[in-house]
Amino acid sequence: MKLSKKISQITPSGTVILAQRARELKAMGKDIIELGEGEPEFNTPEFIIEKAFKAAKKGATKYTSVAGTLELKTQIAKKFQTENNINYNLDQIIVGTGAKQLIFNALLAALNLGDEVIIPAPYWVSYPEMVKIADGKPVIVSCQEDEGFKLSAKDLEKAISVNTRWVILNSPGNPSGAVYSWDELSKLSDVLRKYPDINVICDDIYEKIVFDGTRFHSLVEVAPDLSKRTLTVNGVSKAYAMTGWRIGYAGGPSELISSMVKVQGQSTTNASSIGQEAALAALSGDQDFLEEWSFLYQNRRDLVSNNLGKLFGTFIYNPEGAFYHFISCKNVFGSMTKKGNYITSDIDFCNYLLEEFGVAVVPGTEFGSSGYFRLCFAKSEDHLNEACRRITNAVNSLA
Ligand code: PLP
Repeated sequence: MKLSKKISQITPSGTVILAQRARELKAMGKDIIELGEGEPEFNTPEFIIEKAFKAAKKGATKYTSVAGTLELKTQIAKKFQTENNINYNLDQIIVGTGAKQLIFNALLAALNLGDEVIIPAPYWVSYPEMVKIADGKPVIVSCQEDEGFKLSAKDLEKAISVNTRWVILNSPGNPSGAVYSWDELSKLSDVLRKYPDINVICDDIYEKIVFDGTRFHSLVEVAPDLSKRTLTVNGVSKAYAMTGWRIGYAGGPSELISSMVKVQGQSTTNASSIGQEAALAALSGDQDFLEEWSFLYQNRRDLVSNNLGKLFGTFIYNPEGAFYHFISCKNVFGSMTKKGNYITSDIDFCNYLLEEFGVAVVPGTEFGSSGYFRLCFAKSEDHLNEACRRITNAVNSLA
């Protein structure tokens, strides 16, 4: 069959491929610890499931408005106002099938052939591929570990060309866990003010997962004047352990939102009606448990850093948010496994961990930063302890 040229240039998600291989090995009876996929091991809280169930029984099983139900959009506007100090009218809000669909909608709605999109690396695997599908050109800017994996104002300005139309910011970041401070966002805003044709996607999906008292700030909170050209993306997947419900939301300028609604109206129509009821329950319900969960994640982050410590030469970077460690494995390059294979890249190392020690993690190459691997610590302490034991064993078995 003749397939689209565009799609042949799209790289399948590496995290999904690795998860598939881990599942295959599991099906073959191997004992695999899955730290590759980025989702909490908790189930969705009971009160959310109950409310969604009751709403479904009462008839919330039909199509809704494309942009989302009035009740949910009203709750989202309230959330942006009270938690982020951002004011959006209801026509500036859209609900979609996960934050992923909203970013996709936005890029499809706003990019023209060859428009450049600046993406700081390490980045979430889907950004560059989505940009390519939308006919744009990803411009990757490498952010170094000693700068906290964050985009500096200087590097942002260097990457800007006459074709730059968008910048994607993600804080807390996947895979780095880096959280931009007020001051860092201010400095980036100063650069953006000089370029009125550049828009921003601000992906706040990990907003609720921050450690050691770190304060989260969204770009428009810091620079309200940029609201006219910023899309603030968020969702319930990560914070409320609701990855399977597929509900994300975004706020932004009304002309962008209505174009996104147009795209969505011709693809999935509305996000699942029952999922929207669940998201409404999550956003309007008790939020206290989120802090407790963050604390649990923080302990798990520390469990991993304490266990792996200096295994890879230098102390591993301790993320300020999200639930990933992004660890350099460069110091094992050039060593040989017991089977006589050389480890020459992060991909080799991750394959070695999976095939010979049963630990699934994701190579940094997938996130645009080779020489690292991403380990998701939103897993049980038993699993994390065992994974750390196996990783230590794997490294110590290299010659
Ligand atoms: N943005 C980032 C940075 C993510 O890591 C993810 C999921 O892994 C998403 C967006 C998508 O989230 P959702 O489940 O709401 O589509």
